Amino acid sequence: MKKHNFSAGPCILPEEVLQKAAQSVVDLDGSGLSLIEISHRSEAFVAIMEKARTLALELLGLEGKGYKALFLQGGASLEFLMVAYNLLESSAGYINTGTWSQKAIKEASAFGKVVEIASSEDEGFNYIPKGFAVPEGLDYLHLTSNNTIFGTQFKKFPATSVPLVADMSSDIFSRPLDYSMFDLIYAGAQKNMGPAGATLVVVKEEILGRVTRKIPSMLDYTVHIGKESMFNTPPVFAVYTSMLTLEWLQRQGGIAGIAEQNEKKARLLYSEIDLNPLFDGYAKKEDRSDMNATFTLTEPALKDTFDAMWKAAGINGLNGHRSVGGYRASMYNALSMESVGVLVDVMSDLERKA
Ligand SMILES: *Cc1c(COP(=O)(O)O)cnc(C)c1O
Repeated sequence: MKKHNFSAGPCILPEEVLQKAAQSVVDLDGSGLSLIEISHRSEAFVAIMEKARTLALELLGLEGKGYKALFLQGGASLEFLMVAYNLLESSAGYINTGTWSQKAIKEASAFGKVVEIASSEDEGFNYIPKGFAVPEGLDYLHLTSNNTIFGTQFKKFPATSVPLVADMSSDIFSRPLDYSMFDLIYAGAQKNMGPAGATLVVVKEEILGRVTRKIPSMLDYTVHIGKESMFNTPPVFAVYTSMLTLEWLQRQGGIAGIAEQNEKKARLLYSEIDLNPLFDGYAKKEDRSDMNATFTLTEPALKDTFDAMWKAAGINGLNGHRSVGGYRASMYNALSMESVGVLVDVMSDLERKA
């Protein structure tokens, strides 16, 4: 039986994407060759890379606006330092909203001055800082749009005159925004786009080339742009499967179409968390993530009962991050409303039984 997969990452992908990807590993479109045994310079793969890059820009509404999309390796974690390598000349601003922001700050600190513009550490990262001023003259401002571990999400973004950089690993392609307010967006594929192994980077070309340091080729966005994301052998399976997911997303009505589903799923789960006295939400209501809902049991003694119940219902991946505990339900694009319904039923069953 297929499980209801609430895993935070790697995470659920659309069934039809998995089927097609599996088939292409054996035989790509009837070519008699596997996707993973053909040259990345072949016509077939060049077309796949091209399609993936174009679709990413199209879905974000950034086509023809001076942006390039790249599929790189090293995960979002490599972008923590690559962003700084390419953009940080004297000082950069960072908003600290949790573990991933902190890791980005740590890496950037090796390249220049990092100014913590705002932080929600004082309350265990359960909210998104607001009302802070962003100084002029920074090389860029970096933020994490969705905090996968704590379950908070920026609903509004700070107004700033400096380039805005966002780690969107866990909410890329999940909600309509004016994406042109960002100058650089990065996201590890494995949260809302595809298998691990590829990282999407969308960058406005005009912000590049401003630092004086020498950048090693593999870490230089300009080099990757010049080689159309094929400077070296790209992670072909991850790029191909991401392309399939982006095509699937297009069939769902693009970001606007999927966002409607995502909002419904989040509303259903959060209303159960709020109405059911056995559960407490972790994040402040106004900052709750539509992707990762974090919650705890109000009666810890019920843990074993609850755990047995959701497992019996075919639910996977509900444990909170090891640094936070409690529970986390990740509701990425491919998770169905039905799966959220199953979880909510288990939660209300627990209330009836307790
Ligand atoms: C998972 C995650 C990362 C780390 O991604 P890797 O691809 O494993 O390096 C970074 N930022 C956010 C917001 C994440 O959710």
